[in-house]
Amino acid sequence: MLLCDNFIHGVWTKGESGTETVHSPQTGKAIGTVSQPSSAQIDAAIQFAAKAQKSWADAPVKERSKVLFDLRTILLREADAIAKLKASESGKTFDEARAGLMKGIEVLEFALAIQNLDLGGRLEISRGVSCEFRREALGVVASITPFNFPAMVPLWTMPIAIALGNAYVWKPSEKTPLTAKKIADAFQEAGLPAGVLTVLHGGVNTVNAIIDHPQVKAVAFVGSTKVAKLVYQRATNLGKRALALGGAKNHIILLPDANLELSGAGISDSFTGCAGQRCMAASVLLAVGQVDAHIEKIIQRASSLQLGSTMGAIITKAQKEFLVEAITRAEKAGAKVLLDGRKAKAPAGMEEGNWLGPTILDNIQPGSEAATIELFGPVLSIVRCKDISEALAIEASVEYGNACSVFTSSGPIAERVAKAATTGMVGINIGVPVPREPFSFGGINASKFGHGDITGHHSLDFWSNVKKITVKWEKQSDSTWMS
Ligand code: NAD
Repeated sequence: MLLCDNFIHGVWTKGESGTETVHSPQTGKAIGTVSQPSSAQIDAAIQFAAKAQKSWADAPVKERSKVLFDLRTILLREADAIAKLKASESGKTFDEARAGLMKGIEVLEFALAIQNLDLGGRLEISRGVSCEFRREALGVVASITPFNFPAMVPLWTMPIAIALGNAYVWKPSEKTPLTAKKIADAFQEAGLPAGVLTVLHGGVNTVNAIIDHPQVKAVAFVGSTKVAKLVYQRATNLGKRALALGGAKNHIILLPDANLELSGAGISDSFTGCAGQRCMAASVLLAVGQVDAHIEKIIQRASSLQLGSTMGAIITKAQKEFLVEAITRAEKAGAKVLLDGRKAKAPAGMEEGNWLGPTILDNIQPGSEAATIELFGPVLSIVRCKDISEALAIEASVEYGNACSVFTSSGPIAERVAKAATTGMVGINIGVPVPREPFSFGGINASKFGHGDITGHHSLDFWSNVKKITVKWEKQSDSTWMS
């Protein structure tokens, strides 16, 4: 059993507001406990972070980058151990857990380049007058993360915010708190000064106390749309900077001219990867015209997955029950079940885990639950469309706006989808169109509240202030009123 406390003042500290048990979605067994901080502990932790931030921001960026460089070495050394722990608490397969960490390390590599990016600049803007801009840290910033990527999502923001000179307060998901210990230990071993990273556990009370704390200047959130809205409203009502990424209902538009192998693998992997528990997973397949041969390929690939080795578990028993009930409701409403994950057997020795196989539902009606609600599981809803215009209209009718992909061999159709999609990210013959550094990650509409993206170039403005300094040392004889 792993014990996970709160990382306060650089010391693992037992929370004074009780402990919770963490269960593995794969086996149902207790694998750890997590202690929750009292409001006095949260206040003390953030006060300490504010003090630590001042000297961290004063350190030259090259010194800050050195810590992050060493962090990269440690995370790579620990990658297998972190992936194993992540898999056991989140239900992912080992390979998925490792891939998520490596994606987080890519963001860390981007952060290592910050010293070479636009941290400042100077220009003579008029005779004898120069203007300079400097990127300055905000102070203490906070991040609230979801269960489904216990390392990758925190690493989207930590390296960038910390490299820019902020102190970072992290509230991991209460469903997957254990990975946080390994990540914070890696930061500490890399030489991050005490207080620059703080980890506080718990649920809504901890989140609210962090947002409300006067020393916290900015809040990043990743999770469901319902909570993203609450967090965004709470933080911005207090005049704080906030960026809150929410849920998704991603569409894939499949055309008859799509490459059979590419679309079969791309679409199947998109809805089954991480057992469908990712905000970029395919959820609705908009099947334009006669694409039955393509759908057969998707079914073949999804059917070949083995629960427990090539496909992971569902995070909680309650979520698994919700998915089973949603599939049954869709079936009762007239859907044809082409692949039934309800019948899949749990892996031997893991019968108490939360297992559901890949499920494909055909003849789903636009506007129905399976076509519009984020189910967050390995369920693909097929909506039949007569043409691309109908497919685009259905895509646009859903409130979310994370990702939309098209599988086609036609450049003009691909371009039409890229232009018309009401999402922040578009894939052309790619099932999970996650942009990689230095391109930034972020949706639109109900998938994101706030301005800018959470990673890449577009995140720098979120984690810093840009100060402008205009300088004149001598009166110029030919000066105009402007100079
Ligand atoms: P969640 O919204 O239930 O929880 C996310 C975080 O919010 C957790 O740390 C949790 O403790 C906290 N929280 C829960 N209820 C709260 C409340 N009432 N007030 C304040 N804080 C609260 O999400 P989850 O189930 O952990 O994660 C799955 C969701 O996250 C899905 O909707 C998925 O699409 C979304 N997600 C989005 C992205 C993205 O980039 N857009 C990435 C990953 C996950």
